[in-house]
Amino acid sequence: MRIVSLAGGIGGARFLRGLKAAAPDAEITVIGNTGDDITLFGLRVCPDLDTVMYTLGGGINEDQGWGRADETFTVKEELAAYGMEPQWFGLGDRDFATHIIRTQMLAAGYPLSQVTEALCDRWRPGVRLLPMSDDRTETHVVISDAEGRRAVHFQEWWVRLRASVPAEQILLVGAEDAAPAPGVLQAVGDADVVILPPSNPVVSIGTILQIPGIRAALEGKTVVGVSPIIGGAPVRGMADACLTAIGVETSAQAVLELYGSGLLDGWLVAEEDKGVALDGVAVEARPLLMDSPEATREIAAAALALALSLSR
Ligand code: GDP
Ligand code: CA
Repeated sequence: MRIVSLAGGIGGARFLRGLKAAAPDAEITVIGNTGDDITLFGLRVCPDLDTVMYTLGGGINEDQGWGRADETFTVKEELAAYGMEPQWFGLGDRDFATHIIRTQMLAAGYPLSQVTEALCDRWRPGVRLLPMSDDRTETHVVISDAEGRRAVHFQEWWVRLRASVPAEQILLVGAEDAAPAPGVLQAVGDADVVILPPSNPVVSIGTILQIPGIRAALEGKTVVGVSPIIGGAPVRGMADACLTAIGVETSAQAVLELYGSGLLDGWLVAEEDKGVALDGVAVEARPLLMDSPEATREIAAAALALALSLSR
C-alpha cells in the first residue's frame, strides 16, 4: 500500500509515528512543510523537516517535541556572548551539525530534496521525506506594533513574539514561482490514499497546499484529514492565532470547511465535535488526543481505515 501524508512539525511528526506503527508494511511518502525555513547565522534551518526526521529517526527531544535529545547549547551561549542576534531561536549543538551540512550541500548546488535525502541516510526515518518544494518559500506575517506595520518572518512572530501580536496577514513569499519538489506529484499520483495529519491548517498544511500543482493533484485522490482542533481549542500550540489571521474560527467545523469537500473525502474529529458535517465528506468521531504512542497509532489506524473505505 502506498500512503502520502502532508506534515508540519510536532503534530505531523507525532501522527506519522502512529501511522508507521499502524501500517508497518506501507510505503509512506511525507511531503514536508518548508514555509517555516529560516536562515540563521548563515545556516539554513528547516524546522519542520527536521522535526519529522528526528522524531521518526529516534533523535527527537521527546518532552519538547522539537530539537535533539541530550542537547547542549554551548554554541548558542558563545554566539550570545558576542552579542549575536537573534537569540530567541533555540539551536542546540547537535542540531547545528544538521544545519551546517544542509547549508554546505545547498551552497554546493544540491537541491533541498537531495540534501534531505542525504540527512535521512543517517536517521532512517522509515518514510520517504520530501520537502514540498526545492524552491525557497518563506511564511511571513504582517503585524503592527511599536515599530509600525511590517512583515516579519513567521519564526519571529511565532517564537519571539509567541503570536502575542495579532497577525493581519500570513503570506507564503515565493509561492507563485515555486514548483513541487521532484517526486512530490509522482508520489501523490501513485498513492492509494492521502492522509492529512493534525498539523497546523494554515502555516503547515495550508502552506503545502499553496505550492502550485499540489492541491490539484490531491483533489484527484482519496484524502482523509485528522482535525487539529478539539472542542474549539488547538490541543497544543497557538494554531488559533493563525486561523484568526485568515478569518477562520478555531473549530473542527471551520477547518473542515477551510479544506473543503473538493479536497477532503473524510474527516476525523474528536468525540466532543461529533456534530461536525459537510456535504460530500464522511465525518467520524473518536478520541483524537495523541497522548501516548498507542493512542496515536489508533488514531492513525482509524484515519487509514476511513480512507481505505472511501477509496475507489
Ligand atoms: P508545528 O509545525 O510544530 O506547529 O506542528 P504541526 O503543524 O505539525 O502541528 C501543530 C498542530 O498539531 C497544533 O496546531 C495542534 O492543533 C495539533 N495537535 C497537537 N497535538 C495534538 C493532539 O494530541 N491531537 C490532535 N488532534 N491535534 C494535535
Ligand atoms: Ca512548523
